[in-house]
Amino acid sequence: MFPDYIIQTLKEGILDFDKKIKGFANPDSILTAIESRSSSPVRILRDDNLESNIKGLYPCGEGVGYAGGIMTAAVDGIKCAIKILEKDET
Ligand SMILES: Cc1cc2nc3c(=O)[nH]c(=O)nc-3n(C[C@H](O)[C@H](O)[C@H](O)COP(=O)(O)OP(=O)(O)OC[C@H]3O[C@@H](n4cnc5c(N)ncnc54)[C@H](O)[C@@H]3O)c2cc1C
Repeated sequence: MFPDYIIQTLKEGILDFDKKIKGFANPDSILTAIESRSSSPVRILRDDNLESNIKGLYPCGEGVGYAGGIMTAAVDGIKCAIKILEKDET
């Protein structure tokens, strides 16, 4: 799926990593896929209170486009939970 120059760079990178992490380029290893993006390509818009245009709906985490990993998804969830608690207090 990639042009030759990328395949060549990947081969060199894997061999270079093997110098740092022994076994990384082990012939028994299987490369099954390449991570080609880092976060959701879709973003559900939220207002300053992290609420969507549907009142009471707080989209959060990976699937709504505000996170790109385990930690950021978790923190985004906490931020939304705090906003919901603050709203309940008012
Ligand atoms: C193969 C892979 C590797 C990854 N590697 C890393 C990594 O190395 N480091 C990193 O930081 N991040 C990594 N991530 C990303 C990370 O896992 C996600 O960003 C994070 O888990 C998203 O958390 P979340 O809570 O937003 O969503 P999720 O973890 O997807 O949780 C959503 C939950 O909602 C449930 N759900 C969905 N629809 C409904 C419904 N209608 N009713 C009830 N429940 C429902 C699902 O079952 C699921 O339990 C990886 C992701 C994948 C797929």
